Amino acid sequence: MELRLYDTLTREKRVFTPTDPARVRMYVCGPTVYDFAHIGNARPVIVFDVLFRLLRHIYGADHVTYVRNVTDVDDKINARAAERGISIRELTEETYGNFLQDVAALGCLPPTAEPRATEHIAEMKTLIERLVKGGHAYVAEDNILFHVPSMPDYGRLSKRPLDEMIAGARVEVAPYKKDPQDFILWKPAKEGEPSWPSPCGIKAPGRPGWHIECSAMSWKHLGETFDIHGGGIDLVFPHHENEIAQSRCAFHTAVMANTWMHNGFLQVEGEKMSKSLGNFVTIHDLLKEWPGETIRFAMLQTHYRQPINWTVAGLREAQRTLDHWYDLTNDVASGYLCADALDALADDLNTPKAFAALHELRSEAVKGAKAAAACLKASAQMIGLLQQSVADWASFRPASVAIDDAQIMASIDARNAARKARNFKEADRIRDELAKIGVVLKDSKDGTTWEIAR
Ligand code: AMP
Ligand code: ZN
Repeated sequence: MELRLYDTLTREKRVFTPTDPARVRMYVCGPTVYDFAHIGNARPVIVFDVLFRLLRHIYGADHVTYVRNVTDVDDKINARAAERGISIRELTEETYGNFLQDVAALGCLPPTAEPRATEHIAEMKTLIERLVKGGHAYVAEDNILFHVPSMPDYGRLSKRPLDEMIAGARVEVAPYKKDPQDFILWKPAKEGEPSWPSPCGIKAPGRPGWHIECSAMSWKHLGETFDIHGGGIDLVFPHHENEIAQSRCAFHTAVMANTWMHNGFLQVEGEKMSKSLGNFVTIHDLLKEWPGETIRFAMLQTHYRQPINWTVAGLREAQRTLDHWYDLTNDVASGYLCADALDALADDLNTPKAFAALHELRSEAVKGAKAAAACLKASAQMIGLLQQSVADWASFRPASVAIDDAQIMASIDARNAARKARNFKEADRIRDELAKIGVVLKDSKDGTTWEIAR
């Protein structure tokens, strides 16, 4: 099976050929753990989980190493811990625990390794010392900076014109910088901040900059060069550009990763969902209202490189489709994987096209084709959907709808009794009462069932 992936560095879709098919290596920038992750943060986690599943399918589950790091040293973390009056460790552990629960509910497999920045300080220092020795970095007022002009082809990933990068960097130029584009590898820690003994003979204790973390952790877990590096599109500049500069200059390599992949933004009303804009919904809160699979399915309706406009209508649609798929595949065994769906995924993770193939299987299954239902089940499961029993799926209750199952059954019985006695006014009253609490009744020849209005 030929996998083709779009590479941000070369701006083209290319056939993916791992350096070693027995050990396919992928690194994805993970969360900064200071608060609940928002639904925009869930996008890279879900997208790269689909890729992880596809790679495991192609190369074998034991032949894919997926590393997703945890940024547990950061200004926002320090500030939030102080605000809440708890230790940094307490905050990062609590936040990461919540993150893991959230993404598990979204159907994401655990990565092979989840390294924490604070556990890789030694590797960061080694890299920094190499960069200084190699003339790519320098010490200035207890800071250590990467000297951008020391790398002639800096900026190839983002392809930003040099004057734009300089203008961007000029916004806040520290006096000790040799060049406005130079960026921090290590800085002195302020009072009360986490700190470590500094490298390069600096007396004051310090802490790492953000970019060096990923160069150190990818090196430790995947090596000097690896196959795929991923993250959200906002990370292209400066984060990934700087990761490339650090790793390539430290190891004297032509590339850091062979393929660079970036997911588009999730937007609400045309704006990026972000904590700083305050227009965000946390995964945690959304999971109270919708099953994780519904959120995952809604997210994957859009190709990963396109922006998503996040709407409740999209969630409703995803919920209805999954309800139907669960129904159709209830008592069928898993079958073969759908070749069209796999081909679509292998074409730069074209999930909307894969779902179109599954919709066709659904049409066949509706007509009674058991093999189509079995194929639908297997293929949806491969994408991380239809992971539950129908009973578990049907038992989901949104937190905002106060529902007592026994009471609903009693109301249905009372309504049926009223209908039998031809008291249609009372029967309608009961139905309307239920509708008010968000419960819709469905009458069929087999009796009355109910579901939550969406
Ligand atoms: P952060 O915790 O802000 O470093 O973000 C973690 C990951 O989420 C990064 O890969 C970001 O690029 C990604 N991300 C943040 N906001 C969004 C968004 N609105 N849509 C899609 N991805 C996002
Ligand atoms: Zn990173």
